[in-house]
Amino acid sequence: MKVELNIQSIRNWIGEVDKPLIISGPCSAETEEQLVTTAQQLVTHNNVHLLRAGLWKPRTRPNSFEGIGDIGLTWLKTAGEEIGVPVVTEVANAQHVEKCLKAGIDALWIGARTTVNPFSVQEIADALKGVDIPVFVKNPVNPDLQLWIGALERIHQAGITKLAAIHRGFSSYNPARYRNPPNWGIPVELKTLCPELDIICDPSHIGGRRDLLLPLAQKAFDLDMDGLMIETHMTPDAALSDAQQQVTPEELASILRQITFRTQQSPSPEFENNLEELRTIIDLIDKDLLEKLAERMKVVEKIGEYKRLNGVTVLQIERWKEIIRTRLLRGNSLQLTEDFVMELLRQIHKESITRQDHIMNQDNTTQPLIRTDET
Ligand code: PEP
Ligand code: MN
Repeated sequence: MKVELNIQSIRNWIGEVDKPLIISGPCSAETEEQLVTTAQQLVTHNNVHLLRAGLWKPRTRPNSFEGIGDIGLTWLKTAGEEIGVPVVTEVANAQHVEKCLKAGIDALWIGARTTVNPFSVQEIADALKGVDIPVFVKNPVNPDLQLWIGALERIHQAGITKLAAIHRGFSSYNPARYRNPPNWGIPVELKTLCPELDIICDPSHIGGRRDLLLPLAQKAFDLDMDGLMIETHMTPDAALSDAQQQVTPEELASILRQITFRTQQSPSPEFENNLEELRTIIDLIDKDLLEKLAERMKVVEKIGEYKRLNGVTVLQIERWKEIIRTRLLRGNSLQLTEDFVMELLRQIHKESITRQDHIMNQDNTTQPLIRTDET
């Protein structure tokens, strides 16, 4: 499935910003003084490109701080003007969009709890028709790439050309280390499908803790992401929302100093040569892997034929369990992680079942056993 987005880089809109793009500011606007002081500290210590603050906060439980609301629009604008940096806030419905446009807010982001709902995203898209304001779309709370792409497409179809995506991690029933565990494969796949889209990482909402900001930001840049949205507050411990994950602007500068930035290419010819050699080996291994998989599928089809002739079911649960048990053991002895081997086996098994199901029902075309239809 191709993703056709005709977009311009938000980094160019800001003014030919090289990577990384830094979006920072408090989780929530609380007072005008908090916003202006945080903004001033941000530019004193950092090269920040966009000042963020949430005005209408989507909180999980009621009776917590749900944002300062409309009054914060002018505070945010004032703080941005004070430091000469454009400002960005979260919108969750058409009224938010209208209020932001009226107040002259420079850019908008759509939060994870909104991206998840196509009705809300469409409402925002409709309110954006005729304006070309930059929009950042956070991933939906659930790890659904199609839903994320769908939200980007809805906003794009409204005429928005300055679009970027933000990876902020995904909800988990049992978050152990991270507040919203990251799933790096999803933004990487998004970038593969749409290379011109800038992808920003939000380590604050992924980690939920200050000490995780640096390793998460490092990981994002190792994956060649384009920037960070990271929460800062002049007095983080006193913040009215997300206190544990906010740092001072000075601490942000220290985090950014500790990051190792790597480039896509190295100027060293020796490095390029060695890389080329290793990649040739990888190419050969991949060729072997694919040929082996094709060979395996041929045997699978033969088995499917026997099963059909003998009236035996496609799915043989005991055999499947045995495959899992033995392959995981083997994978383990080869230093392959259990998650990786399991995922690989699932994909192979799914394809095998689809093929055998096809053979079983070759006379009367029925639905495949495992459906992958989109909803
Ligand atoms: C935020 O950025 O303050 C926010 C609410 O983020 P998310 O939508 O990622 O939860
Ligand atoms: Mn927050």
